[in-house]
Amino acid sequence: MRDFLSSYSIGKGSIIIKLMKDNSNMKTEPIHTVDALLEENRVFKPEKSFLSQANVKDAGIYKDAQKNPKKYWENWAKKLDWFQKWNKILEWKPPFAQWFIGGKLNACYNCVDRHVKGPNKNKAALIWEGEPGEQRILTYWEVYREVNKFANALKSLGVKKGDRVAIYLPMIPEAVISMLACARIGAIHTVVFGGFSAEALKDRINDAQAKVLITADGSYRRGTVVPLKNMADKAIENCPSIHHVVIVRRANNEIHVKEGRDHWFHRLIQKAKHYCEPEKMDSEDILFTLYTSGTTGKPKGIVHTTGGYMTGVLATTNMVFDLKPEDVFWCTADVGWVTGHSYVVYGPMANGATQVIYEGAPDWPERDRFWKLIEKYGVTIFYTAPTAIRAFMKWGVEWPKSCNLSSLRLLGSVGEPINPEAWMWYHKHIGGGQCPVVDTWWQTETGSIMIAPLPGIMPTKPGSATKPLPGIDAVVLNDEGEKVKTGGGYLAIRKPWPSMLRGIYGDPERFKKTYFRKWKDIYFPADGCKIDDDGYYWLLGRVDDIMLVAGHNISTMEVESALVSHHSVAESAVIGITDDVKGQAIAAFVTLKEGHAPSKEVEERLKAHVAHAIGAIARPSKVLFAEDLPKTRSGKIMRRLLRDIAEGRALGDVTTLSDANVIEKLKKRYEEES
Ligand code: ATP
Ligand code: MG
Repeated sequence: MRDFLSSYSIGKGSIIIKLMKDNSNMKTEPIHTVDALLEENRVFKPEKSFLSQANVKDAGIYKDAQKNPKKYWENWAKKLDWFQKWNKILEWKPPFAQWFIGGKLNACYNCVDRHVKGPNKNKAALIWEGEPGEQRILTYWEVYREVNKFANALKSLGVKKGDRVAIYLPMIPEAVISMLACARIGAIHTVVFGGFSAEALKDRINDAQAKVLITADGSYRRGTVVPLKNMADKAIENCPSIHHVVIVRRANNEIHVKEGRDHWFHRLIQKAKHYCEPEKMDSEDILFTLYTSGTTGKPKGIVHTTGGYMTGVLATTNMVFDLKPEDVFWCTADVGWVTGHSYVVYGPMANGATQVIYEGAPDWPERDRFWKLIEKYGVTIFYTAPTAIRAFMKWGVEWPKSCNLSSLRLLGSVGEPINPEAWMWYHKHIGGGQCPVVDTWWQTETGSIMIAPLPGIMPTKPGSATKPLPGIDAVVLNDEGEKVKTGGGYLAIRKPWPSMLRGIYGDPERFKKTYFRKWKDIYFPADGCKIDDDGYYWLLGRVDDIMLVAGHNISTMEVESALVSHHSVAESAVIGITDDVKGQAIAAFVTLKEGHAPSKEVEERLKAHVAHAIGAIARPSKVLFAEDLPKTRSGKIMRRLLRDIAEGRALGDVTTLSDANVIEKLKKRYEEES
């Protein structure tokens, strides 16, 4: 890739991300500068009422953490319960970091035991709703009891410290219980998203060499039963490491139970003893391995250890979400993703949160299911992904409008850059214009949130994740490793942080090559980023997705955001295609909002709209209408597959694609139109 900076500088008064004041067609406003953004009220200052109650009120935290990051992190680590204190905070032998060396703790103990010893004992930990509508509420005491019993059950199946356990479950309380039970006995869990195929499950089990698989008979998705156990059976035909399978009864669908190998969860629990001593884990013992979403290619098995990871998720849940004991926290992520690990299980539970978990689809039985859940349970903090927000926009405001969302006090976003237009919609229609929106940048590899506002003290700008959190040394660098003060470049993290990945499971070479190849001893997340005059970070998506058009670097995210700012567009995916003259030309795949039909005229309007918003250079040479875009199962747009289509190549790794039909259809259409 060419020098990212050569044509990518933004000085004072130039555009950061072009934002449209007016959505109506062709009446677009001129380019908006940061100053203009300020004038236009596109900078949202924290309300005084929010600040006065915020967990973090003093902006001095940034400076203090910068002065002494080790001390800063040590103070957070002290908020966990340790069986034995560490004797050294950090050992950094790049690219390998160790945190809180010599310390001993247990992640499960920190998520349940310490709460049942105090007033949280009878507090609701998990408020669960199944897709068909059943409800279960488990207090911390009940989670504690179930986890202890299941930990003993796993032991009875021969699971020991360091063994790997694969978890392939729907979003039911047993998913959380299983993860915590593994952590309790020191077994390493590998959660595989319940929407994955038998093939994907098999690969992950074999990579981890898991001894036990925990699954369910079935799960509900859009009113039908997904036969999980059948898929698991198929997967483990080729998984010699699996000795036992535990089945949670969920959907009561018919399954095959193999005598000796398969065990019902409820029967094991019935027989199990009530208390299981938590294993005293070394701070650097592995807590879990987890695969990335596969947006850029073959997924990587990321390794996280115990002390540093728990410190990172404890701190960020507390500060970024401003979590309080009385909050009802709802992170919509599945436990199959890192967001579900860090902000459903370990972060919220280490903080003693009450949270909602929901099994099914957001549009089942109607498109207001999420809003109904918020109303019903009085959710105060809601954390979801841009892909979901864009779907809500597409469905229309009447759905959230019909529910009372006044309990909400903070909104979060994760997974992709959030388009400014989507941010504004979220803020207005879900947050009622009252809630801070925290756009949180992080990765499976980083373990916890890295760049995000502290909602009491950091003004937000729609589309920017604002600034790195205290204790995180994230900067923007050019190819030479020089710091970019304002302008575009590569995001880089210069110092180790506690929850950083400790490697790729079984592949130390790939670890070094993937993350430390670009600059010496500096972590390379492979995301592009621009810094504006106020020092705000604008994440641009993956470096691989950046286009080079007539010598100019243009990020897919900017063109997509310009398209989404048009009143007819629900979602778009943009790629660079080979062009004899310009090097690369821009092709845009566009999904229109409901009530809008594709036509040649709309196509021309959209091209003009982008040209007006960003400049003639960004005018797409092709607009292709698509009912759906290819996405990973975690909902991220897979531009690499669109590039494969455009370049006439065979499709790359498609194992994490959510719907293979979408890409096949697009491929056909593209070939017909070319
Ligand atoms: P793979 O690494 O296998 O390609 P993936 O990167 O999609 O998959 P994750 O670790 O789930 O897997 O996603 C992290 C990536 O998601 C980040 O590197 C970034 O590109 C994107 N991302 C997440 N949150 C944000 C955000 N708030 N703003 C911009 N981008 C984000
Ligand atoms: Mg990644």
